[in-house]
Amino acid sequence: MERREQFLGENSINFNRRFQCDEDCYHYLSEIKWSSIDYRCKRCGYTKYGKGSKPYSRRCTKCNYDESPTAGTMFDKCKFSLLIAFHIAFRISTKKKGMSSAELSEELDFRQKTCWEFKWKIQQAMKSSLRYPLRGTVHVDEFYVGGEEEGEKRGRGKGKKRLVIVALEIVRGGFGRAYAATITDASSDSFKPFFEKYIDKDADLVADEWTGYIPLKSTYQKLRQVPSNKGKSFPELHIHIMNIKIWLRGIHHHCSEERLQGYLDEYHFRFNRRNKMESIFDVLMRRMVQYEPKRLSNSTEETAV
Ligand SMILES: [Zn+2]
Repeated sequence: MERREQFLGENSINFNRRFQCDEDCYHYLSEIKWSSIDYRCKRCGYTKYGKGSKPYSRRCTKCNYDESPTAGTMFDKCKFSLLIAFHIAFRISTKKKGMSSAELSEELDFRQKTCWEFKWKIQQAMKSSLRYPLRGTVHVDEFYVGGEEEGEKRGRGKGKKRLVIVALEIVRGGFGRAYAATITDASSDSFKPFFEKYIDKDADLVADEWTGYIPLKSTYQKLRQVPSNKGKSFPELHIHIMNIKIWLRGIHHHCSEERLQGYLDEYHFRFNRRNKMESIFDVLMRRMVQYEPKRLSNSTEETAV
């Protein structure tokens, strides 16, 4: 079997040339699935296989278990063809602002719910691998999504408002990488898991003078607090926050915490790869093959966006 080459770049003409039918997509997935780890039958563990029933499926020569390249991946039980799933993943990963499920539904003529169920899977794959925490100079702050912000006391997210914490690397010449997460309130207990997941303990952290940051200094010894000066002390971070808000406003109105986290992950997946868009589609494909698909909790299945 000829070796698959990574699909690189954002050019849709090249994409259409490369992926013309479902079989091309099965080939791509099979290479991802079985090139990094050697084939081993999921049922009996045998390592020899023959051709299976579907394109690029493998059938165990001992127990006859037939495994498709999509089995156990985020493409499993997809409601549309694999080619369409590839198209959606390509658009969402390479378009600067992604694509809302409303746009997808209009363009592909599928129900919006079908589109956002698949988009949710893509967002799951866009979660940080947590392998590269933010380092160097890192600015951190919180902001509200939805509802009025003026004159509100800092603290709990109320009603439809959601509180989000965000951290951004400041590099010479501007922005580095960033992550954001929904939090229930602005207490240090809520901040802590975010810090642990996304920020290197040795980072030169800067936050404003909010008391919630003080207890974190025992772990993050370089954490400094400076007067916010109405955001003027953190110009890059505030531009970043503004951009997230504008993007969110453009594609959805309000949504559950779980959904909002999905959007924040999607935003930062693209943001953190804005200088290496070449490989963004392939990275997403690998994750969609390797990550366990997770269902949305029922309470989250609300406004389709
Ligand atoms: Zn077997």
